[in-house]
Amino acid sequence: MLDRGSSPLPQFKILGQPVHLSPDYTAWLIDRLQQGIGTHVVTMNAEIVMQANHDSELASIIHQAGLVTPDGAGIIMALKLHEIEQSRCAGIELGENLLRLASKPEFNYPIFFYGGKPEIVKLAANRWQTELPTLNFVGIEDGYIDATAQAKLLEKIQTTQPKIILVALGVPRQDVWIRDHFHLCPEAIWVGVGGSFDVWSGVKTRAPAFFRKLNLEWLYRIAQEPSRWRRSLALPQFALLAVGERIKGKNKLVSH
Ligand code: UDP
Repeated sequence: MLDRGSSPLPQFKILGQPVHLSPDYTAWLIDRLQQGIGTHVVTMNAEIVMQANHDSELASIIHQAGLVTPDGAGIIMALKLHEIEQSRCAGIELGENLLRLASKPEFNYPIFFYGGKPEIVKLAANRWQTELPTLNFVGIEDGYIDATAQAKLLEKIQTTQPKIILVALGVPRQDVWIRDHFHLCPEAIWVGVGGSFDVWSGVKTRAPAFFRKLNLEWLYRIAQEPSRWRRSLALPQFALLAVGERIKGKNKLVSH
C-alpha cells in the first residue's frame, strides 16, 4: 500500500536532520500534485547533513521542506544502523521519474528548468524534449543571471505556473532560492537537483551502476571533478558520527 500524498510520511532524524521514508516518493509527490498541494523537495546526502549542522539557515530549510529524500549511500547506511531498510532516492532519478510522468497526456504538467551554465541548461532541456516530445516546457533559465533577469525569471514562473520546477544551483543556493520563491507556485513540486543538468546535458557522466552498487558514487565524482575532494572530507566524519549516534541509542521514528 503506497502512502497517500495527503498524509505526512514517517520521518527519521540522522544527526539531527530529518529524512522521510517511503517505498515510492514519486507516487507520493504526484498524488499531492493532483490534490493541489505543492512540495519543496530536498534530496539529502551525508555532505548536506554535515553542512546543515554548521549552517542554521540550511537546517531550518530542511526541517521546513515537505519532502526530504535519502539521496546518498551514507544516509542509507545510517538508516540501516537503526534497522531501517529504505531504498535510495537520488535527485537525478526523482527528476527523471517526474519528467516521464509529466509528459503523459493525462498529466501534461508544465515544466521549468532553472540553473546550470547557459549552454548546459539548454542541452539538458533539449535532451528531454527529444526523448519525451510531449514534454511541456514553459521555461528554462541558466543559474548565472543578473538581478534584472532574475526579476524576469520570477515573473515568468508566476505567470506560467509550472507544476514541476527543477532547480540546479547546488546546495545550499538552490534550497534557499526555493524557500524564498515557493509562494509564487504553491501548488508545484520544486526540487533541488544539484548537478543533474550537467549529467543530462552529456557534459558529465553519472557513476556507472557498478560504483553505485559499491556505494562509491562519491569517489567517481571526485575523479570526474577533482576540486570536490575537500567536500568529501565530510563523509568519513559523517560515518563516525552516525555510528556514534547509534551506539548512544536508537533514534525514534516520527510520523511528521
Ligand atoms: N550553479 C549555478 N549557479 C551558480 C553556482 C552553481 O547554476 O551560481 C550550478 C552549476 O553550474 C552546477 C550546479 O549548480 O550545474 C551545482 O552542481 P553540484 O554538482 O555542485 O551540486 P551539488 O553537489 O551541490 O548538489
